Amino acid sequence: MVFMFDKDRFVDERMLSVSVKNKGLNYGLGCIDGIRAFWNDEKEELFIFRLEDHMKRLHGSGKSLFINIPYSVEQLSSITKQLLLLNQVTQDVYIRPICFKGANTLRPDLNDPFNHLAIYTHYTEYEPKPYLKVCISSWTRIGSNMIPPQTKPTAGYMNSALANDEATTNGYDGAILLTKEGNVSEEATANIFIIRGGDVYTPPVSDDILPGITRDTTAQILMDEMNIQVREQSFTRVELYEADEVFLTGTAIGIKPVVEIDRRVIGRGQVGPMTSKVQEIYNLIVRGQLPSYMDYCTPLYAK
Ligand code: PMP
Repeated sequence: MVFMFDKDRFVDERMLSVSVKNKGLNYGLGCIDGIRAFWNDEKEELFIFRLEDHMKRLHGSGKSLFINIPYSVEQLSSITKQLLLLNQVTQDVYIRPICFKGANTLRPDLNDPFNHLAIYTHYTEYEPKPYLKVCISSWTRIGSNMIPPQTKPTAGYMNSALANDEATTNGYDGAILLTKEGNVSEEATANIFIIRGGDVYTPPVSDDILPGITRDTTAQILMDEMNIQVREQSFTRVELYEADEVFLTGTAIGIKPVVEIDRRVIGRGQVGPMTSKVQEIYNLIVRGQLPSYMDYCTPLYAK
């Protein structure tokens, strides 16, 4: 089942239809978010990770992109829970809210009052490899005055898809994009962290990144559990090549180590000790196994 906002009800996925004139389809006029829920076997519970934070970000995207979302953050969260309950989910699941413009006019503008909005689920694993070998993309990251990368516009994913496609065609697992000034921005669908001499760096929002929710959780883990303050600071590709450890963060991929960039081995070419510690803590948090982070985990079946 999928929830369709414009119909204000849950609909069988096979019964959905959208006009070929739709502007989401024609011009990429839409925005998305991506949420995950994790099954905890021991507690027989599904925990939705940072649900309201994702819905707040979706609202922010909608505001910046003139895509009206006629439901509050609380309503969106409650609908997501109903959707998962309706589908009786008892396994890890990816949840995608999507909002896109209708088909009332031809011009690519955002005045069209009619929006489609849906929430659907996905069960396939996004990136099963335990660590990645990536390249620097020949594609530049979209800039803040182009298609704002600080939001999640559907149109922005053409940039990610071109970078991903080039990377996999050339035998890499992923692509890191640079800003037009040449600073490291982010991976096609994930944020990036580097570790040098015990210090941890990640690019600032002004380097055309999406302010990732996993990035934020990672900074919190580093501060609260490892006593390390992340430095939000611009850096270049050479600092990537010469880092002791590099890892990516994202809802879909979690904490993912990078062991090679442009055929240069990172550190010892293995998953580094700080990366694996962050990864270990993150994996406990999302599955509702660390009491101090339970505020981030919305239980589905609890009364
Ligand atoms: N950057 C981009 C371009 C993304 O699509 C994502 C995935 N949402 C991220 C970074 C990571 O963000 P988050 O941790 O919120 O999933």
